[in-house]
Amino acid sequence: MLNNFSPNALKTYKTCPKKFYFKYVENVNIPRSALPFEKGKKIHALANYYLQGLNTDNFEQALTSEELQIWQNLKSNEFYQKDCLKSEFPLMCKVEKYWVGGRLDAIVYDKNNYYILDYKTGSIPENPEYDFQTMIYLLCLDKYLKEYNSLSFVYIDLKNNRNHIIEFSADKRKLYEEKIVEICEKITKGKIYKCNTNSCKFCEYSKICLIE
Ligand code: SF4
Repeated sequence: MLNNFSPNALKTYKTCPKKFYFKYVENVNIPRSALPFEKGKKIHALANYYLQGLNTDNFEQALTSEELQIWQNLKSNEFYQKDCLKSEFPLMCKVEKYWVGGRLDAIVYDKNNYYILDYKTGSIPENPEYDFQTMIYLLCLDKYLKEYNSLSFVYIDLKNNRNHIIEFSADKRKLYEEKIVEICEKITKGKIYKCNTNSCKFCEYSKICLIE
């Protein structure tokens, strides 16, 4: 039985339960072009090396001018300059009987105030406060840290050079847990896989979906 979910898995289910079924139940992997993700992958790798104190000069020289601008935006970002606790950090937690988690871009801190950083080379989520990534990562770090003064999630919008900050609280913990349990229960109890989207033509599963 499925009881282990990433933010992407939950997002996929919400968008199209049938796609979730192909990807996470049947484990069908359809190869996709890596090109649209290249810029993000480069910046994430560079950011991780930099936070580990490694020399990034050669890496920087291989960036395009657009990538270099994005990298400069990140390097000068007020949150990225805080002390780093962890970078590219895998973390999970249990919400009722469901395990949820993922890999956090970075956790930084300032005295006893902690921030989850998420570098975005594309757009930030439409409703960032209730995005599955936001909710899951905050719940995971809340459990991991146990004691802290404040905890926030910071989407760093590198294209527009601005931050979107979501503060965590006891009320949010309750609400986030309810939302996570609600969708996990739908997934584990629901037997019907129907599409909720009109973006089938962009879906990598469209070819096999038609014949299923
Ligand atoms: S083609 Fe449409 S219905 Fe089929 S899996 Fe993709 S999004 Fe869902």
